[in-house]
Amino acid sequence: HGHPHHDNVQVNQDQPLKIYFIPYLAAGHIIPHSDIARLFASRGHHVTIITTPANSQTIRNSIPHHPNFTVHSVHFPAQEVGLPDGFESLSAVTDMVSLGKVYQATTMLRDPIEKFVESHPPDCIVADFMFPWVEDLANKLRIPRLAFNGFCLFALCAIESLKAHPIPLDASPPFLLHGLPHPVTLKTAPPTHIKEVLEAVIAVELRSNGLIVNNFAELDGEEYIQYYERTTGHKAWHLGPACLLHRTAEEKAQRGQKSVLSAHKCMSWLDSKKENSVVYICFGSLCCFPDNQLYEIACAVEASGCEFVWVVPEKKGKENENEEEKEKWLPKGFEERNLDKGMIIRGWAPQVLILEHPAVGAFVTHCGWNSTVEAVSAGVPLITWPVHGEQFYNEKLVSDVRGIGVEVGADEWGVIGFGDREKLVGRKDIERAVRRLMDGGDEAREIRWRAQEFGKKARAAVQEGGSSYNNLTALIHELKRLRCCKPSA
Ligand code: UDP
Repeated sequence: HGHPHHDNVQVNQDQPLKIYFIPYLAAGHIIPHSDIARLFASRGHHVTIITTPANSQTIRNSIPHHPNFTVHSVHFPAQEVGLPDGFESLSAVTDMVSLGKVYQATTMLRDPIEKFVESHPPDCIVADFMFPWVEDLANKLRIPRLAFNGFCLFALCAIESLKAHPIPLDASPPFLLHGLPHPVTLKTAPPTHIKEVLEAVIAVELRSNGLIVNNFAELDGEEYIQYYERTTGHKAWHLGPACLLHRTAEEKAQRGQKSVLSAHKCMSWLDSKKENSVVYICFGSLCCFPDNQLYEIACAVEASGCEFVWVVPEKKGKENENEEEKEKWLPKGFEERNLDKGMIIRGWAPQVLILEHPAVGAFVTHCGWNSTVEAVSAGVPLITWPVHGEQFYNEKLVSDVRGIGVEVGADEWGVIGFGDREKLVGRKDIERAVRRLMDGGDEAREIRWRAQEFGKKARAAVQEGGSSYNNLTALIHELKRLRCCKPSA
């Protein structure tokens, strides 16, 4: 093999690409993965998302019909692993046993996905790094494979730095990340197990034809793009922020899942508030804090005197069957006292819509990358409260490197976002961080100004002629070139 089909070059160049996307089964992966697929569809290419039935339904409900955008379902082995029907996402999980089952079920998707892909081979596969076996499939079919992991490139640079310069066992914090363009230090080190798992899947990712990044080059920064490409020899394609795809307000309210309140209700509440007066609090789709941590948040918010929108996952209430036990996380009379001041959303919130509202002046976030880049896109400064995964690196990009947020002081790097934790973030620390951004002082003004500047850059990046727009053009060109040069079997 290895003879390019030169004769077909012209025909091939004009033909749209056929691309398959295989997202991991968690909201934080499916949402950006589907948005990135839509970007390719908007340029006239044929995209198919391969996922399981319940996730297919969610994607279809949240994404308007487009002739180039299809979703293909494969069987989810719920019965085989002992999960109830429809429980097809890590985002639905609040205990380790179910987590293990969902994880096991995702490994069983390999067979049906391989069968489908082999019987209808595409020009390229974009696969989540949590499916490392796609490497063998792409190699077998001799098609290019692009990796996606939902991280920003800065986080991958931090991971590379730690791989080259591990933290000595006897070291104490702060831990310097050697070799990065800025002097970045961590308050806490990643759990060894998580570090090893990540490094293993990243090794497979680095053998792909390139990495798609849901960020814009200006936020990661040229210095980090160069660091990544120099240390790994791998190419990164910044195509985001994908959340800036054009959508109506109702579409935004359905993004990811149908929100528990209407776009209209949410917007009219925010419309009644002054510019930059509301703190938005949400910890993504996986985190589920214990009652005592939520209680600290409630006390801090009340003490700060700020107006607020606070999202508490619906799965929270389900743990306690008993009505009385249900909401132990709220101080007595909290909602009655704060009827006008705040809104608690129990369940899925229309996050992008909320962040884009001018009344929102700060975002208390766990620094999941999607939440982070959504806030940046809206020009909203962040109060960073990382919990697990690569969130501690994202915090550093936001606070120390770009100066668009303040840290709450979280220093417990969990294995996962639920269950009991050893340390609480206390109400005083939360209140202090909220006041730092909401008190209107010089520091707050500067941070807000920088956040707004990055918001403008994000929106420019996805416009025609912007950095992400041009990267997408170049990537499409590259995929067409690879299609032409495809070695014959
Ligand atoms: N999200 C939302 N409403 C919610 C909770 C989350 O729309 O009530 C969305 C949020 O906008 C983001 C995603 O879910 O797109 C969460 O991804 P992220 O990477 O921030 O965190 P993860 O859920 O992976 O921890």
